[in-house]
Amino acid sequence: MEHVYDRLYLDGDWIESSGDAVITVVSAATEEPIGQVPEAVAADVDRAVAAARRAFDDPLGWSAWEPKDRAAVMRRFAEEIEERSTDFVRRVSMQNGMPVVVGAQTEGTYPAKLLHYYADLIELMPLEQSRRSMVSGTTLVRRAPLGVVAAVVPWNFPQSLLMFKLAPALAAGCTLVVKPAPETVLDAFLLAEAAQAAGIPAGVLNIVTGGRDLGAYLVGHRGVDKVAFTGSVAAGQAIAEQCGRLLRPVTLELGGKSAGIVLDDVDLGAAVREWYGAFLLNQGQTCYISTRILAPESRYDEILDALGALAGRLRIGDPLDPKTLIGPLVSQRQRGRVESYIAAGIAAGGRVVAGGGRPPHLDRGWYVQPTVFAGLDNDSVLAQEEIFGPVLTVLRYRDVDEAVRLANDSDFGLGGTVWTSDPQRGLDIARRVRTGSFGVNGFTLDPGAPFGGVKHSGLGRELGPEGLAAYHHLQSIYFPTGPGESA
Ligand code: NAD
Repeated sequence: MEHVYDRLYLDGDWIESSGDAVITVVSAATEEPIGQVPEAVAADVDRAVAAARRAFDDPLGWSAWEPKDRAAVMRRFAEEIEERSTDFVRRVSMQNGMPVVVGAQTEGTYPAKLLHYYADLIELMPLEQSRRSMVSGTTLVRRAPLGVVAAVVPWNFPQSLLMFKLAPALAAGCTLVVKPAPETVLDAFLLAEAAQAAGIPAGVLNIVTGGRDLGAYLVGHRGVDKVAFTGSVAAGQAIAEQCGRLLRPVTLELGGKSAGIVLDDVDLGAAVREWYGAFLLNQGQTCYISTRILAPESRYDEILDALGALAGRLRIGDPLDPKTLIGPLVSQRQRGRVESYIAAGIAAGGRVVAGGGRPPHLDRGWYVQPTVFAGLDNDSVLAQEEIFGPVLTVLRYRDVDEAVRLANDSDFGLGGTVWTSDPQRGLDIARRVRTGSFGVNGFTLDPGAPFGGVKHSGLGRELGPEGLAAYHHLQSIYFPTGPGESA
């Protein structure tokens, strides 16, 4: 096995787990074991939280440092990550099947960018503001670091989604215990190596490994002040319930079933060039992509043909090959889920226009062909549930009002796109769709803009200055006279 770790990264050091179980990571493409890490137990979480608590409460520690000093360490951390960028992309790809061409633009790019972005932001942001009281005297309003953060992350973009939390939390002065998904622990250990090399102080970043039960134990730990989660709706609901009982602040980035609204004036040739990234990125294992395609009656057949042709020509295979655009799904379980959705689509009367099965030329790896369904309506399971695989459902609409109504007729509200020759028309539609993000003729996550969802897609926002606010609490300090003034 290529990557074997026998210790956990806790309190700035590599420490033996209190348990003796291990997590073995299997390659999505070869089904062979590629690495192993210790599986943490509750006592390890206790140690991790205690270390994060100590580091946070230290009056001379991370939370009390000047922002410029934290920013300097964050920039060193970014450099250490950049030096390992190829290894990060490769590890993620081997674990979850992400094509390296996608990884290079996401997992190999966003983490360092985010560290630089939040390092710059925290240096510039005024953290204290003196306000003349509305009654008498003065109030100093202060942004203070929130405390110990439990960050629970999934496997689909494990580095980027972790850094959506880690970078603003570090900038704010918080300390963290991170729990990666068991499918993608190996890149988290590489991150620990980068953190240690960068001189992130002991206890500021701790990593515990395990599944749902360990995650739930961490979320409910009494030493934790805030929870940040990305993953499924079911897990998000369980975490929200737990945090509700504990009155613990929580941000949740959950799933999506976003609409791609193709307008009758679309330039199909130009649009199709963007559709891989907007509809099928990471073989559908991307939360914000548009997987419900709304096509106008007048151009329905043409759009269906274009989608079918696109699905048929995307190169499927080894995710480590830079020419690959569709790699395997993360796990056998995930392929089983996706295949059961395809079966449900057929049983509901759906017509498979492209794909629908496993690629015949690949006998190892959890591959599913890009699949396009026609003949289903918006109430169908395929149009309502998040599949998290390369499966698109194309629905017809009569006029723009119906397209907007169908787009909004979903439990989710994360992303969406519109495809038109007239960007103003696209903007008018974007304003009518109730989702946290939207793209006109394409979509890329902008780290400087807030990201998150409404309805079942989550609570709160990550990224941008708004994402930093989630790691501060506001303290108002009142003076009958102004600070430093005599009565
Ligand atoms: P999941 O939500 O169960 O797991 C995500 C992370 O949360 C993992 O680290 C997991 O160990 C942890 N976790 C799960 N339940 C928890 C709990 N009650 N308390 C604390 N931590 C908990 O996701 P999954 O089972 O890996 O995937 C299932 C489906 O979730 C996918 O098919 C997809 O639809 C969706 N998903 C969405 C995203 C996203 O980015 N929105 C990411 C991954 C999966």
